[in-house]
Amino acid sequence: MSYSFAMRKLILFSIAVLALVVAAGAAPPPPVAANVIVITMDGMRWQELFGGAERTLLGKDERDITGSSAYGRFWKNTQEARRAVLMPFLWSVVATQGQVFGDPARGSRSHLTNGLWFSYPGYSEMLAGVADPRVDSNDKIPNPNVTVLEWLNGLPGYHGRVATFGAWDVLPYIVNTKRSGLPAGDGYPPVPEPQTDRERAINDLSDDLPPIWEGAPLDAPIMHAAIECLRTRRPRVLWVMLGETDEWAHDGRYDLYLDSAFRADRFIKRVWEMAQSMPEYAGTTALVLATDHGRGATNADWTDHGRKVPAAEQTWSAVMGPATPALGVRESVTVTTAQVAATVAALLGEDFRAGVPSAAPPLPGITAALPSAAPRQR
Ligand SMILES: [Zn+2]
Repeated sequence: MSYSFAMRKLILFSIAVLALVVAAGAAPPPPVAANVIVITMDGMRWQELFGGAERTLLGKDERDITGSSAYGRFWKNTQEARRAVLMPFLWSVVATQGQVFGDPARGSRSHLTNGLWFSYPGYSEMLAGVADPRVDSNDKIPNPNVTVLEWLNGLPGYHGRVATFGAWDVLPYIVNTKRSGLPAGDGYPPVPEPQTDRERAINDLSDDLPPIWEGAPLDAPIMHAAIECLRTRRPRVLWVMLGETDEWAHDGRYDLYLDSAFRADRFIKRVWEMAQSMPEYAGTTALVLATDHGRGATNADWTDHGRKVPAAEQTWSAVMGPATPALGVRESVTVTTAQVAATVAALLGEDFRAGVPSAAPPLPGITAALPSAAPRQR
């Protein structure tokens, strides 16, 4: 069979077009993210994150332990199975497609530099990139430091597109709303300026929940407020501060501490999957997970943290996104919680240290596509 010259030209042209289409479809991922979502879990221990439930914390004796519902839900015979059942999204997706820092079993360490090991100093260190001795209480004092959220909000392209939601009424002071102009409510209600029926419903529901802790609402309404914000307001930078892990731990409720970690993981999954279903976020969004401090390492002090509990210095963090190589649980690397701030900016291709020179550098190896030596200067 022979084709005419014109026919052969048409076939060659079609092949060329097809090749272009295939090449375009296989384009490499963008070198940096366009959006970043930061989710923090207050006082979530590295022990459970990397090892799942601890048997001796489940009850006072063996009968109490094996009879508990938390044992039925979260106890498995291997550490890998225990952590996977506690935080299935983190271990099936974040740890395989992203990076997790702070696993002592892999020779790694993540720690605070503020020496105080409680919340406000922890969040300030995490988001401003530096430990500030002036931030030495949980009092409602506006943060003298500029957080990466405030700094990003000052850049063209981000202004008015940074959102925060938190299960703690100190959050507006941590991000210094007066100076930064960031929209940050105190959790009462979860959506400060509701615009949709769903946001009004979230606020109504929240008002009907029991006020278990002073100044700290339950996580659920905060989670739903953040999801609704993502759905309708499309922020480029979103910080969601979850608090129940810390509150239940202080109350000595290991079962509910585990349950809140499980629900936080499910929330992270929901947010991530929702982002991947939206054109503005799919494939262009980075995720950062972190905690503001650890807790005690023993049966006697796991509930506590702060200056008298040195084990609370140990933290963890995790990163996933289009710029981040899938290195999984990082081995033999020591990092600090102060590195989270510059990490949030670096994932977006921004150099936080151009604005705040005292800030710690980004976590190592989180942006392979972007040479760490040459971030965009501003
Ligand atoms: Zn805390």
